[in-house]
Amino acid sequence: MESIMAKNLKKLLDGFLILEKNHGKNPSDVTQTSSSGDILNKIKDETSLFLPSYGSISEGTLAQDLPSNNFNPGFRHIIAIQTSKRNFIRKFSDLISTEQYVEALESYKEQISKMDIALIEAVGSNNVSLCRQLLDRREYGELVAQPNAKDTEGNTPLHIAAMHGHLKICEILLDYGDNIDKNPINIHKKTPLHLACINNQIPLAQLLVRSGANINIPDDLENTPVHYSAQLGSKELLEWLLNKGPDLSIKNSEGKTAMEINTRESVQEIFKKEQPHNTNSLFTLAKPIDLMGMIQKINKIIHNSPNNSEDFDNIQKLSPGHFRPIKILGKGSFGEVFLVEKKDTKQLFAMKILMKNKIMGQNLLKYAMAERNIASAIKHPFIVCLRYSFQTDNKLYLLLDYCPGGSLGGFLLREKRFSEERSRIYLCEILLALEELHKRDIIYRDLKPDNIVIDTDGHALLTDFGLSKEGVIEKDSAKSFCGSAAYLAPEILKRTGHGKAVDCYLLGVLLYEMIIGIPPFYSQNKSEMFSNIKKAKLRVPTSLSIECKNLLRDLLQKDPNKRLGCVGGISQIKKHEFFYGIDWDLVYNRGLRPPVPYIMSNESQYLPEVIIADSQNEINSSLPGWTFIGK
Ligand code: ADP
Ligand code: MG
Repeated sequence: MESIMAKNLKKLLDGFLILEKNHGKNPSDVTQTSSSGDILNKIKDETSLFLPSYGSISEGTLAQDLPSNNFNPGFRHIIAIQTSKRNFIRKFSDLISTEQYVEALESYKEQISKMDIALIEAVGSNNVSLCRQLLDRREYGELVAQPNAKDTEGNTPLHIAAMHGHLKICEILLDYGDNIDKNPINIHKKTPLHLACINNQIPLAQLLVRSGANINIPDDLENTPVHYSAQLGSKELLEWLLNKGPDLSIKNSEGKTAMEINTRESVQEIFKKEQPHNTNSLFTLAKPIDLMGMIQKINKIIHNSPNNSEDFDNIQKLSPGHFRPIKILGKGSFGEVFLVEKKDTKQLFAMKILMKNKIMGQNLLKYAMAERNIASAIKHPFIVCLRYSFQTDNKLYLLLDYCPGGSLGGFLLREKRFSEERSRIYLCEILLALEELHKRDIIYRDLKPDNIVIDTDGHALLTDFGLSKEGVIEKDSAKSFCGSAAYLAPEILKRTGHGKAVDCYLLGVLLYEMIIGIPPFYSQNKSEMFSNIKKAKLRVPTSLSIECKNLLRDLLQKDPNKRLGCVGGISQIKKHEFFYGIDWDLVYNRGLRPPVPYIMSNESQYLPEVIIADSQNEINSSLPGWTFIGK
């Protein structure tokens, strides 16, 4: 029987031959040749012959293929690489017909490495058309250059484009490059954004940030891109970056924050000016940047997990028609949450529907993706499990485990407040959920009673990931706004940059509200409440136990650096005297006994099916990677 390697190589050859045949035709007439898909990976797996990773381009450069005294370098490069491709295909074809498969594979490896070097050279010489061509599958099929290739300094094409300010090339890389990493690091741990800031390439830095570059990554000297911009004192870029809400608490290896790195008055002015007190713009600034990094991290987790959702996309196509709506569970900011029954299995789910127009219109798509990605990647006893996600033309659907106790917010509304014992149980469970998120470098930030739901046994689970409430909160009623606004940490209000300690503060707010019945610093007057959160002294009823009072004071510390959990993380909180005697393994195994919840009735509200449907139920492909079929 023919070996798998030979079979795969022949498939590759077929692809190349189609490419050759199509060469010179109108792109729209060209047959797609990428059907060979992951042949490269298959060969790698099945022959255990390893191809060079992107990080190790072999020494042989493209130079030998290039005419040396070129007076029109761009043009000659294109000819050279085309010739090189044609020669390769001829050689590859000969080797395969004479059954020299190992040699064919070697020659293939050599060619793809040439493509990567050609891309890096094209970027360096600002050769826009060559760059576009090298990334074009219609032109190169499986030989297409890798946008994440690295040179000997660990620089990717994006680094090189950023360093030189080659804006057009940068756009092409971001548009054409399949799975291009927006935050690759070179040997100095610098990302393209670092290099853009060091070289004051303003439009380029802006493009990178808008495309998902993380503004807070520290390099080998632990400087973030904002440190460099401050050091340079470039007013325009620094102002723009500060507006994106960077974490200004990050210190470099000399212990200096971005604000401390350049003491020039003009630079200090920029920092002062960009710490606005205008609360309306608060929500546009508080969330986005960290989430971008977070989405990338989560994507990485998903791509590395064997249960990769994309594999399931074609196996089973779900649509709203597979579910019967029973009743409304809650109204979200971007749509509604319904109790639904899956028609074939009769299983109940909470169906969260997000309206695409609301999300897309506000450029919140990435947060919707974050929600879907986080929920599908994490399996934890105190985090609501996402079972499926799919989309229709106008809506995105998340199918979550149904928690029939409803939200903790609902409990508090009915019961006003809980005993210390009962509050401790919920707090222990939510602590473990947050610990899991922090372990994955995810800051939850949206901790509040409405985002905690109670399952059949009364346990508390975190739900609602990632959707920023930008521009939505203002539309809500004043009261509900104050309700959620009470769950804002002082450093978020002051916008001095924030980290995981935000969640520790919010744990304090949650505990306070559970035990006392209203959040700390609460006022019907929003600006008064914000001012209280920032400045007022915490007042705790004397009737509480001493341990509880201490925990509230330690968690509700205004200075995040002094807050419990700031240094030791959640595990430091777990050691607090309030949790004395708690067996954390028992907590994890759902061994605590919260009160049996008031189970909401499943009685049907006789909702018409169209309520969860879309005008068109065709599943479209406008949001690749959304569909998810869980275990
Ligand atoms: P939003 O992003 O709009 O805040 P949430 O995910 O917080 O939406 O859901 C809104 C409300 O729907 C929650 O406050 C809760 O009452 C209800 N809900 C959400 N998920 C579930 C679930 N898995 N089981 C039961 N109720 C839920
Ligand atoms: Mg919510």
